Amino acid sequence: MSFTLPTDIENRPVAVIGAGTLGRRIALMFADRGGLVRIHDRSAEAGEAARGYVEENLPRVAAGIEGGRPGRVTVTDDLAEALTDVWLVVEAVPERLDLKKEIFGELDRTAPADAVLASNSSSYASGEFIDRVEHPERVLNIHFYMPPVQNAVDLMSDGRTDPRIMELLKKELPRYGVFPFEAHRKSTGFIFNRIWAAIKREALEVVAEGVSTPQDVDEMWKINTGSPAGPFHMMDRVGLDVVLDIEEHYAAENPHLPTGPRDLLRTYVDAGHLGVKTGRGFYAHGDED
Ligand code: NAD
Repeated sequence: MSFTLPTDIENRPVAVIGAGTLGRRIALMFADRGGLVRIHDRSAEAGEAARGYVEENLPRVAAGIEGGRPGRVTVTDDLAEALTDVWLVVEAVPERLDLKKEIFGELDRTAPADAVLASNSSSYASGEFIDRVEHPERVLNIHFYMPPVQNAVDLMSDGRTDPRIMELLKKELPRYGVFPFEAHRKSTGFIFNRIWAAIKREALEVVAEGVSTPQDVDEMWKINTGSPAGPFHMMDRVGLDVVLDIEEHYAAENPHLPTGPRDLLRTYVDAGHLGVKTGRGFYAHGDED
């Protein structure tokens, strides 16, 4: 199979599929160099909320990158319209394998032949959802963290990704203020998520063993690393149910992981204390969060 790399990138749109928490943030980043970004979501409400989010944040983000200027963001519920002439598609629909399989089949059939097709999935390697794709050489993971604040991204092949795509993205993404790092092998959690998972796990284990408290661990973390928030506060923000799901996923692959962190998380989840979203987790949360 041969794949021709996209050219004339500066003048072609980027499409973002799914306009939720991450999709709107990804769209924001690709709109910061004056170009066109098309957002497609099957929910008109999510599309409009994403448009509002981008309009509110784009001037500031564009001003922060070299050569940046606010681009144009359009929203459509018509997938074919969203994909017209794009050089890159980033999928950010919910984390369900059946949905990813369906969408990648559709993207492969509908997007221009030279478009790169990327998934923002947090836990699935792109090789797991290409069974309906005829051109796996143009598919990969581009995993974002929390743009516009955390702008490192992981790149990971689906096993058959054209290596020239990695080089293209390493060259192009920094121009949008997005900084790519390639995982050189298949890896659940890519690069940084794995490291962060280990930090969360050990922090939880220290508390599960009764060695310390969430408050003290966070205080030490802040003093020693200079970060504004410690791991327990960060977990509260993400949601302890989500943190538990992620840890279960790692544990399913590696049975040697300690059970203390999951047991501790489960006591909070079972009590309905999920963190910021329920007003209580390791901390009690008010409006400031
Ligand atoms: P979300 O639920 O906030 O948003 C998903 C959006 O997709 C919704 O607006 C929904 O209407 C839309 N959607 C659902 N089915 C669709 C379809 N068939 N076609 C078009 N749009 C559709 O989800 P999210 O938190 O933004 O996560 C999206 C992806 O990003 C997931 O794969 C997740 O693992 C990944 N991710 C999330 C985070 C995070 O912190 N939330 C971080 C990194 C990666």
